[in-house]
Amino acid sequence: AFIVSAPSGSGKTTLCNKLINSGLGLARSVSATTRKIRKGEKEGVDYYFLSEGDFKKQLKRGGFLEHAKIFGNFYGTPKDFVLQTLHAGKDILLAIDVHGAMKIKRSLKAEKVFIFIMPPSMAALEKRLKARSADSEAQISKRLKTAKRELSFVSKYEYTVVNDSLEQAFSDLKCIIKAERSRRLRKS
Ligand code: 5GP
Repeated sequence: AFIVSAPSGSGKTTLCNKLINSGLGLARSVSATTRKIRKGEKEGVDYYFLSEGDFKKQLKRGGFLEHAKIFGNFYGTPKDFVLQTLHAGKDILLAIDVHGAMKIKRSLKAEKVFIFIMPPSMAALEKRLKARSADSEAQISKRLKTAKRELSFVSKYEYTVVNDSLEQAFSDLKCIIKAERSRRLRKS
């Protein structure tokens, strides 16, 4: 499993979508969330958009591998899909926040590779969050504060990719995945 974290606005979603569509045979874990759907997002593709009640029901059933409350909304990784995919011998990509990633580090037995995507600078991150204009001023400043906290987790990850140029970051990510697969071949 490849676990990718990044402060929001680092271009993580774009990069992960590119990876999924790049013929590497990576399956994407679609998370459940209670946050409102954004323009351009699709149910079951970007997230499973759940009511808080339904999320809590699934949580109670033990349906999530990990979950976190982020910016007032719940997010969770559906357990069955991840375990079934890994069981079938396929690789999976999890795009989750730093706390979720640390939980996965402790709880998921399968081989795991942790990748942190960095914005080139805080100024660049602010610019991107504003350009996205999905969030209010207050939300943006909250996301920036969270981003600073998240950046302090970078040492817990095995790889860092700086997303300055999208093409370069994408190529770096592909290299990491290929290298890790070669390492696995050596082990088996
Ligand atoms: P956004 O609302 O911008 O799509 O995502 C906000 C944050 O939630 C991002 O850092 C994203 O990686 C994280 N996230 C998305 N799905 C999950 C999940 O299933 N678990 C955890 N822990 N974080 C998630």
